[in-house]
Amino acid sequence: MFDIPFLRPNLVKKESYLPYLEQIEASRIYSNYGPLNGLFEERVRDRLFGGTGGAVTMHNATVGLMLAIDQSRRPGGEFAIMPSFTFAATPLAAKWCGLTPYYIDIEPDTWQLDRTRLAEAVDRLGDRAAVVVPYAPFGTAIDLAPYKALLRRGIPVVVDAAASFGTTESGAHFGQGFEGAVVFSFHATKSFGVGEGGLVYSANPVLARRIRQAGNFGFSGARESVLRGLNGKMSEYTAAIALATLDAYPAKQAARRDLLGLYAKLLAEAGLFADGWAMQRLAGSVAPQFIPVLAPDGMRSQDVVAALARRSIEARAYFSPACHQQPQFRDDPRGALDVTERVAARIVSLPLWEEMDEAVVRAVVEALRGMGEETAS
Ligand SMILES: *Cc1c(COP(=O)(O)O)cnc(C)c1O
Repeated sequence: MFDIPFLRPNLVKKESYLPYLEQIEASRIYSNYGPLNGLFEERVRDRLFGGTGGAVTMHNATVGLMLAIDQSRRPGGEFAIMPSFTFAATPLAAKWCGLTPYYIDIEPDTWQLDRTRLAEAVDRLGDRAAVVVPYAPFGTAIDLAPYKALLRRGIPVVVDAAASFGTTESGAHFGQGFEGAVVFSFHATKSFGVGEGGLVYSANPVLARRIRQAGNFGFSGARESVLRGLNGKMSEYTAAIALATLDAYPAKQAARRDLLGLYAKLLAEAGLFADGWAMQRLAGSVAPQFIPVLAPDGMRSQDVVAALARRSIEARAYFSPACHQQPQFRDDPRGALDVTERVAARIVSLPLWEEMDEAVVRAVVEALRGMGEETAS
């Protein structure tokens, strides 16, 4: 046990979803896009996405990625172009669709796909590119303009926005109006945590409908399987928790945003940015899942994590190793990944939970200070 754990997921309490559980008992509908799933999708559309587009609940984001990739892909394409600096679920989803991940480097300050390298890869791979799967790192918004341009050229795009549920930019939800698919995770460790769950959004109603259908065995109205589907549905019990979480979410987001601000302030006051530590350059209003930071040149993420552990502070290193450095993905094709490897070598994920107070944040920041000699490699 650590004095300061990495995450302490704090899901909504049972009292807040008890009325929904009573509705389940009354209706005796437990799954199959039942009334609570429908109500949650409707509220997400209306409250978060300005009443536009289609929202489809999912058993988790990995299944959402699989179905969105499979229903978007260009026939005849082989490759899913994506970053290696992402969670294993992104390339795994492509592999389950029978596609080969093709890794492209990231930008050094935002950690999203490098847009120049992406354009080069799209030209290089031509018709062999089946889909592009950018990741919106750690809840940030990313500029969707280049991806809209790809869609116009007939190249499908599925955004892994696992940690970006609730992220807004200029008053609009991230992904709103985007005609590719945008996939969000509701895993307990994400900011909008329900246990296991997810959601796919698309402004393209035809695509959203196909993904929903694929999530229910590809069944047509006549209950014949007409698409390559699987069971990707969210149960009504999870939808009950999700509905209660939606009401509680503004307060949860505010707490997380405040802690992000506090980390930034205390890291600056401690002189850590001057010492070479860096935070992610974020776009939009983000309620972070945890606090990713880059250690100074010459320090390695695993050493920082170990040094924090000696002070009873639990940290992680998402995403180190990057995907292409893991056995499952080692042989996948790729472009140059210099920035990915530099970032993965120095990335550290610092603790965050909603009721953390200033003293805890200060203890983490103090532990990072003066770590230089101890961890220099
Ligand atoms: C959490 C996460 C996923 C997987 O989400 P699940 O809901 O657990 O399947 C996929 N991609 C990224 C980048 C994630 O952070």
